[in-house]
Amino acid sequence: MAIGRRVAVRKQRANEVLVRLKRRYPDATCTLNYQTPVQLLVATILSAQCTDARVNQVTPALFAQFPDVVALAAADLEELENLVKSTGFYRNKARHIQGACRKMLSEFGGKVPQEMSQLLTLPGVARKTANVVLAHAYGINAGVTVDTHVKRVSRRLGLTEHSDPVRIERDLIELLPQPDWENWSIRLIYHGRETCIARSPRCGECFLGDLCPSQAGSVALSGKNGG
Ligand code: SF4
Repeated sequence: MAIGRRVAVRKQRANEVLVRLKRRYPDATCTLNYQTPVQLLVATILSAQCTDARVNQVTPALFAQFPDVVALAAADLEELENLVKSTGFYRNKARHIQGACRKMLSEFGGKVPQEMSQLLTLPGVARKTANVVLAHAYGINAGVTVDTHVKRVSRRLGLTEHSDPVRIERDLIELLPQPDWENWSIRLIYHGRETCIARSPRCGECFLGDLCPSQAGSVALSGKNGG
């Protein structure tokens, strides 16, 4: 199929998927608990390789003790580590949180920057974290968040052939309207958890089945497109 035609077909499919996702998950939103952009940044850093539910168990005590950028920047590192320990990789996460807060204080007036390029200079912040923070703290759709669910389901839906999150994001940006970039990710994560599960997708009960080129081969999926 010619490249232009292939993109057009994918775009049509992506937009139909989007319509159905919105219908299925009308109230989907970020499931991390936070009060301020700084707290969202911290919670998002903690959510790497960890569930949002686990992060939400940790952040009440963390934010009670260190509620803002000043307190987090000045925190005793060991104390910080202990508070975030159950989210895994806690030494790195504590260091990143403190480093990011110190840099926000020294270079960005103590605020979470609103520019992607500035956000990416903060320790522990890659595009995925930056996209989440920009979208939910500031309503800026700067990109498409690609986590393990978005990667797997977008591949199964035939919207990208890539494995690298940056290239997947590039493909999805081309297919989706900008105002929907972040809500695409949120809803696809719901769908990935509920139906398009990594090891055994429930294709038989999937509301996207008629659109999905992977539907028939669910047994082979985990090997071919899992992730
Ligand atoms: S049909 Fe199967 S592989 Fe396709 S999106 Fe639904 S659950 Fe995933």
